[in-house]
Amino acid sequence: MNYEAVIGLEVHVQLKTRSKMFTRVATGFGAAPNTLVDPVILGLPGALPVLNRHAIEQSIKVGLIFESTIPEVCKWDRKNYWYPDSPKNYQITQYDQPICVGGSVEIELPGAARNIMGEHRYIQLTRAHLEEDVGKLTHGDNDSLVDYNRAGTPLLEIVTEPVLTSAEEAVAFLNSLRMHLTAAGISDCDMEKGQMRCDANVSLRPIGSSVLGTRTEMKNLNSISGVKNAIEYEIRRQSRILERGGQVVQETRRWDADSGMSTAMRGKEDAHDYRYFPDPDLLPVRIPPATLQRLRAELPEAVFEQQRRYQSQYDLPYTLTSVICYDHHLSKYFEAAVAEYPEGAKGIANYVANELQRERSAAVGEGMLPMEQVKILPAQLAQLVRIVDGGKITKQNAKEVLSTMFATGADPVGIIRELGFDQTTDSSELESICREAVDANPVAAEQFRAGQAKALNSFIGPVMKATKGKGNPAVIQEILRRILAGQ
Ligand code: ADP
Ligand code: MG
Repeated sequence: MNYEAVIGLEVHVQLKTRSKMFTRVATGFGAAPNTLVDPVILGLPGALPVLNRHAIEQSIKVGLIFESTIPEVCKWDRKNYWYPDSPKNYQITQYDQPICVGGSVEIELPGAARNIMGEHRYIQLTRAHLEEDVGKLTHGDNDSLVDYNRAGTPLLEIVTEPVLTSAEEAVAFLNSLRMHLTAAGISDCDMEKGQMRCDANVSLRPIGSSVLGTRTEMKNLNSISGVKNAIEYEIRRQSRILERGGQVVQETRRWDADSGMSTAMRGKEDAHDYRYFPDPDLLPVRIPPATLQRLRAELPEAVFEQQRRYQSQYDLPYTLTSVICYDHHLSKYFEAAVAEYPEGAKGIANYVANELQRERSAAVGEGMLPMEQVKILPAQLAQLVRIVDGGKITKQNAKEVLSTMFATGADPVGIIRELGFDQTTDSSELESICREAVDANPVAAEQFRAGQAKALNSFIGPVMKATKGKGNPAVIQEILRRILAGQ
């Protein structure tokens, strides 16, 4: 193909707020239809909007995370259109003075293998503006139903520059966005629940050209794989047109995940079609520098920065940091455990990224047990790792201890005692167990004395069995050698 793809994304993120953008009625998913409504949501005459301060603060945080400029003043505009998803016949949005301008998102492209770090890039943002979500239509054979529960939910629309070059980059962008926004508590970004929705603008141009080609805009991409497949499909479709000497028509297309195809929906509307004008019911918002300072102090560390820190500060490999840092529940858990036992960071990372994940996945049929339901406290995990690091129990037994901790939430010390894993068995007991093992196998004893070092292994199994695995292998070997040497 002699063409390269250019992609720009418009991502709508539902902000996690208790109430809606311009009224106090609750936000929510899954409530009975049209129960989360009031006169403002229904656009009844005389109802006036009141700003949700939390939504504004959450949006500012997004800008701060991605180093956007937060203009001192942003304002509200009406985007006018007539469609049953909006009873007011307009959507309140921000047209020419958005809350965030510019900025960039660090992304990681897929590595050569799952355990190898991929290349990093920065994707420039154009802007992010706040608006209200609309209602949801369900079309039947003879009629259509509308549910306004979602209407008025705060949405932040994040717009990228046309700088992405492949479906993989678009997916990496969405993943990075999700990781950062969930870590900061801004949104749960669950695409299946519509908390993160994405339109993809795709165009092609001759390789090396700096002029943008005609684009189409893909809608109805409601999963990560939908985004990937729709972009790949569109690149193939446009390149076939261009290679035949044809022209791409600027239009909005609807992706159909079931058929794996997109179809033309409508010609692309221009901004003037919406008759934007400032909303006379809402004053512009002035954001003082002190607010920015306060909000900046509440931000978590950026995901990839944290990953680089873990790598240099704790010497953790990518296989561990990519599990821990890419899930804020895990990194918070890890941090809390390390605070209890700073020298044990490496061991803790191993347990968090491996053993704990294994238990979480075994605990439920599908997916993972949510971290909030994990009974092991970070301090208890730190305690277990300290015991293992101190050589007091074997790693094998520690796994069993962890399983019991996971099931019961009890402290490791009690479990170790109960399971009899305590390696501080008194040495006279260990000594007599070893002697019995040697007496029980005179052939192996003779072989060892004749110089076959491997014969020592014949005794280890029986001794381990007799001590129920709590014996320290190194100590056992030492005792056996002494006994066999006739001491
Ligand atoms: P709208 O879709 O509302 O008209 P814009 O024109 O600002 O808004 O563009 C929206 C998105 O489309 C942005 O993410 C932008 O980067 C992207 N975009 C614009 N032109 C192109 C193009 N020729 N090819 C690919 N993406 C584009
Ligand atoms: Mg658009």
